[in-house]
Amino acid sequence: MAVVKVDKLARSVAEGPSLMTGSIPTKDWMDVPAVFKPGNYAYPTKPEKLRYLDSQQGLSFPNAREWNPEDEDWKLPENWKEIIIQGLADRLDRFRSLKIFMDCCVRCGACADKCHFFLGTGDPKNMPVLRAELLRSVYRQDFTLAGKILGKLAGGREMTAGVLKEWFMYAYQCTECRRCSVFCPYGIDTAEITMMLRELLHMVGIGINWAMEPASNSNRTGNHMGLTPQAFKGNVDFLCDDIENLTGVRVNPTFNRKGAEILFVTPSADVFAEPGIFTCMGYLLLFEAIGLDYTWSTYASEGGNFGLFTNNELMKKLNGKIYAEAKRLGVKWILGGECGHMWRVLHQYMDTMNGPTDFLDIPRSPITGTVFENARSTKMVHISEFTADLIKNNKIKLDKSRNAHIKATFHDSCNPARAMGLLDEPRYILDHVVDNWVEMPENTIREKTFCCGSGTALNTDEIMELRMRSGLPRANAVKHVHDKHGVNTLGCVCAIDRATLTSLMNYWVPEVQVAGLSELVGNALVIEGEQRQELTEGLRTLV
Ligand code: SF4
Ligand code: SF4
Repeated sequence: MAVVKVDKLARSVAEGPSLMTGSIPTKDWMDVPAVFKPGNYAYPTKPEKLRYLDSQQGLSFPNAREWNPEDEDWKLPENWKEIIIQGLADRLDRFRSLKIFMDCCVRCGACADKCHFFLGTGDPKNMPVLRAELLRSVYRQDFTLAGKILGKLAGGREMTAGVLKEWFMYAYQCTECRRCSVFCPYGIDTAEITMMLRELLHMVGIGINWAMEPASNSNRTGNHMGLTPQAFKGNVDFLCDDIENLTGVRVNPTFNRKGAEILFVTPSADVFAEPGIFTCMGYLLLFEAIGLDYTWSTYASEGGNFGLFTNNELMKKLNGKIYAEAKRLGVKWILGGECGHMWRVLHQYMDTMNGPTDFLDIPRSPITGTVFENARSTKMVHISEFTADLIKNNKIKLDKSRNAHIKATFHDSCNPARAMGLLDEPRYILDHVVDNWVEMPENTIREKTFCCGSGTALNTDEIMELRMRSGLPRANAVKHVHDKHGVNTLGCVCAIDRATLTSLMNYWVPEVQVAGLSELVGNALVIEGEQRQELTEGLRTLV
């Protein structure tokens, strides 16, 4: 879908009629229906993908069919309303957090202007408080005494097809980034409300293909692209050849090797797509430099977990495969690459879903002896923690001048930053691999970081304008440091970010490229016996 020219979109955000520009809606929000038109919704799941997932043990994805959000009739099951209300009742029973979030919002509005979707679209229903109200109003009507007696007067409303359509629209205009929750005095996590909305929608066959196809591929072959074990290994082998051409160092990673000390898992995007492949080359060089005893798995060949964007059961199943592989291969612990939501699943849900992982050791770096107590339950260490520890203990040699072409800033990816508190390690690494880097403004980094605008499976091209709008707050902060300090590189530790921020930068700040942190480490790494060429663009240099 073509996106309007950048100056037109910028003007539309700044001047178009919206709550952001002081234009007050004339109707109550309940009376404004969701209108679907090309560009404002992601395509529905292909029936064959849904059928496949529905056939898998422990999963339920009913009502596979062709349907179009622009049509009046969404071909719902006859008893769809009962299914939704019963689904909500079940979840209120199962998830104490949901019950609390439904009851305790005081509508203070502290979250209202913190969402990048609201800032980029000006649509009141993209205010986190109102997004949650889409579900809360139905909850009130059916699950509270006041709502049962007073209905709309108590803020309740009937579950109707219009409400369901609204849920679909706004559950997929939230990247579950949790920025709003940082500002909520009650800690209400609107991301978890969005997750519930998506779960409920799946119960009647409503979902988006960009989430379900990668999830289905990942369940079938181990990774989002559906790469076979041979293709996966072949791609890594290509990267090894590139490394040898550039540096004279031959790296020889192993695959599915039983008895290796460590299992390495990273998003498959690192293996097959730019700019992730440069990050992957960085990992390979680092592991070679320290002589790490590790193996890849061609079955747990995906760190990403699109189940998180779908439902609990699928998230659990996809996460479980990593641990099943760790057990099968007999490794001691797991090292994880630069992924965003993999770490959210790990740190917030993994232990109660698939734990305890007593068959693995508490991770201990074989190079420095550091014991990663923080990974005591998950047995999985983030590559930035691992690398920072190597640097701190002087176990690798780095030459910053090899990144002389880089003037960097750092984007805290939402999940590593807000879900696991990975704030200082990436900055410590940056301090040691580049001469020049600057922070973006204080209210756009660390816990308050702005989302890339296209996470949770919203990185699909048919909603490109929406993505450029929702990514605007992040792009604006990058533009600020580009204009003021000449920043030309946006570093991050997330594969989705590497892809989505690249599109975002191309649109709003085309002078800035996106790079994984491990790419910058790989650029700077000095390895014994290397015969490195003059690499003016680091690992991206064409030779
Ligand atoms: S900040 Fe929290 S309590 Fe206040 S309106 Fe938002 S969700 Fe409700
Ligand atoms: S989780 Fe992120 S995208 Fe969703 S409502 Fe909150 S700030 Fe907006």
